[in-house]
Amino acid sequence: MRADRWQPTTKSERIGFVIGLPLFLALVWASQPGFVFLLDHANLLFHEAGHPIIGLFSQRLETYGGTIGQLVFPIVLAVSFWRKGQALPFAAALIWFFENWLNIAHYMADARALELPLVGGGDHDWNTIFSRWRLLAYDTRIAGGVKIIGWIGIVAASSWGAWRSWRDRNVPEVAGEFPKWE
Ligand SMILES: [Zn+2]
Repeated sequence: MRADRWQPTTKSERIGFVIGLPLFLALVWASQPGFVFLLDHANLLFHEAGHPIIGLFSQRLETYGGTIGQLVFPIVLAVSFWRKGQALPFAAALIWFFENWLNIAHYMADARALELPLVGGGDHDWNTIFSRWRLLAYDTRIAGGVKIIGWIGIVAASSWGAWRSWRDRNVPEVAGEFPKWE
């Protein structure tokens, strides 16, 4: 049995992580409470795909489909990297997953204000959802909690990735497929 399910990180992965992570965090930090360039465009794409897909099964749940859609894709990626034992890609997928929480919080906080420009000018998901659950008055407070969870997740996944990188700092570039000991 192998003691560690994770493959050692490669040098190029570590360099990518060490350079990419601070840039990414700076971008996310600087963009809040606005739109994170490129990343939130991708999130929006998965969000918009989620509505009709969930809508196939239930009209009532269609409202939640956007939020579900934008969370599902990073989860699928994270599970796939976890299964392959690729630590830094796994950490990156988790960071993306939790960045989505910031994006969702941003939308939630707008439930009463209704100031965000919506794609297609349709219904406001969180106005609908919070009204349904009689939570509209708490929109900004709930959003605040979701945002905190998002940042805790981002910091935790980043720290874990940084720790893996540090631990593997002397592991040279691996040529070819790393042997599996499972
Ligand atoms: Zn939506």
